[in-house]
Amino acid sequence: MSTPLLPPIGMLAELTHRCPLQCPYCSNPLELLKANRELDTETWLALFSEAADLGVLQVHLSGGEPTLRRDLEQLIAGLAGRGVYTNLITAGVGIVEGRIEAFAEAGLDHLQLSFQGARPATTDRIGNHKGAHEKKLETARRARAAGLPLTINAPIHRHNIEEVPEFIDLALSLGAERLEIANVQYAGWALTNRDQLMPEREAVDRQAEIVAEAQERLAGIINIDFVTPDYFAIYPKPCMGGWARDAFMVTPDGTVLPCHAAQTIPSLSFERFEPRRLSSIWADSPAFNAFRGTDWMQEPCRGCERREIDWGGCRCQAMAIAGDAAATDPACAKSPIHARMAMLIDEAKRIATVPSREEAFVYRRIGAVTESA
Ligand code: SF4
Ligand code: SF4
Repeated sequence: MSTPLLPPIGMLAELTHRCPLQCPYCSNPLELLKANRELDTETWLALFSEAADLGVLQVHLSGGEPTLRRDLEQLIAGLAGRGVYTNLITAGVGIVEGRIEAFAEAGLDHLQLSFQGARPATTDRIGNHKGAHEKKLETARRARAAGLPLTINAPIHRHNIEEVPEFIDLALSLGAERLEIANVQYAGWALTNRDQLMPEREAVDRQAEIVAEAQERLAGIINIDFVTPDYFAIYPKPCMGGWARDAFMVTPDGTVLPCHAAQTIPSLSFERFEPRRLSSIWADSPAFNAFRGTDWMQEPCRGCERREIDWGGCRCQAMAIAGDAAATDPACAKSPIHARMAMLIDEAKRIATVPSREEAFVYRRIGAVTESA
């Protein structure tokens, strides 16, 4: 059964791959684009205008570190002028005084600030940047002072999962409206570092209990979102709400993708904004249509009652683990290779607990790395 094509409502704009941090779980591709490949101000503004024409209601301004773009105020103002809701996703390091206020004045609606740890030493070590934690605290204070709603984003993995209660205290102390406890998704740099990042099962169970208790205790005070870890799940998440269903993303050079890791699917090729128009990519691009709706599904997804709930899960995870982007996401208990997830968890534990391999991260950086299988 074909699903009707609706306009997109959300867009993630990766304005740059440059970043002062080097998180080993970064969702950016292994091959990072240099500054000279980034779209210029006029092209981003034209793209945003087309996105608004197409129906996009909210734009997440991300990177790398989007505040490294000197024209960010202009880009925010362009979106605000079209009535588009803007969310700035920042690492909060190196933002010069007065700029957060300028973003707010340009019309920014919301700021999302990531913390690599709840403890200063963890933040500095995971981001590989001394003093990062202090700078983030200052960014949070300035965002609140500028009247911006604040979300704290905590990407969770083996090396900070025990800090979940402290993340909750940190978000409360900073006056955040929302805390996102987001277990790392194994794509991009996180796939390369999977063995070092994968938490242990007991820690995942403890984390879920702590979050559930805090959600109840702090209802009405702070919203706590919980992004569960795929490898420990029974059902997969609806990746991006379904492939090319209501959102898309744009890389720093204007390549338009259905999701972060879509370029890891070798059978697909992706088009760039200008010369192609967003409306034509959204409707007609073979890559966008490859896994849209349910027609592409094989069994067990094809006959499953959840096929319009999770849309078969993540195509990039199916590619990475099953070697077939059209397979059922192996995170699903109905996948014929679901048992491989447990094997990968056990294998990660074995490798990560070898003393010489502890914290042997490949930090995110420009330059070739070999992706682990
Ligand atoms: S995950 Fe870390 S390295 Fe990647 S963009 Fe965010 S702050 Fe920078
Ligand atoms: S079989 Fe497919 S549609 Fe059904 S729950 Fe699993 S991934 Fe989702």
